[in-house]
Amino acid sequence: MTIQWFPGHMTRARRQIQEKLKLIDVVIELLDARIPMSSRNPMIDEILQNKPRLVLLNKHDLADPAVTAEWVAYFADKGLQALPVDSANGNQTKDIMVRCKELFGDKIATQVRKGINPRPVRALIVGIPNVGKSTLTNRLAGKKIAATGDRPGVTKGQQWIKVGSEMELLDTPGILWPKFEDQMVGMRLAATGAIKEELLNIADIALYVVRYLTVHYGASLQERFSIEKLPDDPQDTDAMIEVMEAIGRKRGALISGGRVDLEKASLTILRELRAGKMGRISLESPSDVRQSDAR
Ligand code: GDP
Repeated sequence: MTIQWFPGHMTRARRQIQEKLKLIDVVIELLDARIPMSSRNPMIDEILQNKPRLVLLNKHDLADPAVTAEWVAYFADKGLQALPVDSANGNQTKDIMVRCKELFGDKIATQVRKGINPRPVRALIVGIPNVGKSTLTNRLAGKKIAATGDRPGVTKGQQWIKVGSEMELLDTPGILWPKFEDQMVGMRLAATGAIKEELLNIADIALYVVRYLTVHYGASLQERFSIEKLPDDPQDTDAMIEVMEAIGRKRGALISGGRVDLEKASLTILRELRAGKMGRISLESPSDVRQSDAR
């Protein structure tokens, strides 16, 4: 589900999160492990102020473990704990709970010192659409909670979901917008399926992906599509399009006359990437981010 974000939406989304912040102790910031920076809200620090925060790198099952480890170090450097998770299949509920309690630790210690039974730590999940907020909520709740939809305008009574006996979660997550004014961010979001590919030219997205794979995951790309040799210069667009055409031929994406249907080939590339058919792949590493910061 993709929201058309416009300034009014952003203001409302921000206000809704700030209302919720008053009720909670810890924020769970959900990012996509394959593109942690591109799946991050550009104003997150400002919106969350100084609330204790746990970063979860979701869809870790699809991301490159070595790159994810680099991201964990990157966030640690910035004073944030980041934990790789797989909300769809993994079970890291206990780990998440323990870390949230630790982040809330000082207050619990004060309560215990005063002879008060500590109340459960209250958490809020925030993240951009499709990052896995509902999946994680269901996972933490231990059962299926009805989806509430990605509609920033929708308000309803807040409900607390119990996560064991020591944690409570607000049932409606905070929905944030990505940094979509940056074209590279748009490519990465579209490549991972966070935004509808129709918003961009599908062949452009696939070209971006094939180029990134050629540079960083050449062997996986070659193996998946039986490509003997990849171009020496990944910046050579014509040569990259030839790779896409070779993939199209391999998958029977043809139009009359035996020519390759590049749009169909592009869809195949994206579908197989998202399904993890080329292995665990990250489309962004801390060094990519440092490079773009330096520009
Ligand atoms: P929301 O819009 O943030 O609530 O995102 P959803 O919870 O609806 O998840 C979007 C898609 O990502 C769904 O198809 C989920 O099944 C999938 N998904 C969520 N978490 C994970 C994960 O950790 N691993 C994988 N492979 N898929 C996930």
